[in-house]
Amino acid sequence: MPISRFMAMTLGHPQWGYYINRDPLGSTGDFITAPEVSQMFGELIGLWCAERWKALGTPDRFILAELGPGRGTLMADALRAGRAAPGFAAAALIHLVETSPVLRDAQKAALPNWNITWHNRIADLPPGPTIAIANEFFDALPIRQFQRAEDGWHERMVGRRDDRLCLLLNPGMVPSAPLSGALQSAPIDAVIEVSPARTAAMAELAQRLVSHGGAAVIVDYGHEASAPGNTLQAMRGHGYVDILATPGAVDLTAHVDFQALGEAARQTGAHTWGPVTQAAFLNQLGIAARAHALQRNATAAQVEAVSAALHRLTGRGQMGQLFKAMAVTADGDAPPPGFEEA
Ligand code: SAH
Repeated sequence: MPISRFMAMTLGHPQWGYYINRDPLGSTGDFITAPEVSQMFGELIGLWCAERWKALGTPDRFILAELGPGRGTLMADALRAGRAAPGFAAAALIHLVETSPVLRDAQKAALPNWNITWHNRIADLPPGPTIAIANEFFDALPIRQFQRAEDGWHERMVGRRDDRLCLLLNPGMVPSAPLSGALQSAPIDAVIEVSPARTAAMAELAQRLVSHGGAAVIVDYGHEASAPGNTLQAMRGHGYVDILATPGAVDLTAHVDFQALGEAARQTGAHTWGPVTQAAFLNQLGIAARAHALQRNATAAQVEAVSAALHRLTGRGQMGQLFKAMAVTADGDAPPPGFEEA
């Protein structure tokens, strides 16, 4: 089967899927995400959303959507910080796109005083002006991989040999159509990745912004420009493991190609901003000042924890450089906060 099918099944199978059965986040889980590192991340995104709500003309009702909200931590922090903008939280209709029953329960618990509507797909969101957040959502959507052999491009497939899963090349040749121009000249043995699922999700989201107004902020690990490279990875217990060894029990993801995502958004007529590094994004939103405020009247241990979180979120060699932020807006008048210097 293509890697995309393997990813979709191991992550989302209704019975055996990785996300369907567990809460993978946090120190006792398999990986940790920015909102779980520090409240500062969700707070700054909440202020970003409040500013975008003002840019929309402070509508009485708007859809505040999050894609893949995990434990609901980001949304809870965002709504708390959003109280700084009077009227923002009261106008927000919370819509969460989430396929995991376990995580839907966690989201419900994290947002006890909110009326929440859940959806399985972006396409199911109701019409209306929308402000959307996606942190580490796109990396979980399936990718396909192609490898260049002497005779041309072949798809990398998951197969079985001696009763074990293995990766092999589909002997059939791939028409060059699914590969974008620059990638076709990659050297022999090069692996390239494309993701129809991500492109479709982004197009759906951007089309909705164009039709109804609004903005989205997408944060994920990945690269600014499409380039060859095998980035498929499996994580368990905060370490990298064999992608084929225990399907359904490990988190399987691949880096996000922000060039491809941006092109998918712009094809709908939406505007894109960035990507910028997560460090640049959070610094422009004022994370240093927020850290400082939290450290006032804090214990020595708390001061230390805030400094460590700031470093983790913005440091080089930490999440600051590998992670990128991109914004999508319906109109292209002015850059949203965090993207002014992009
Ligand atoms: N945004 C959260 C969680 C990231 S983990 C955070 O930053 O902590 C990925 C999230 O996307 C999980 O909530 C997972 O259940 C959800 N998810 C994965 N694949 C999905 C899909 N195809 N449709 C909707 N949600 C999905």
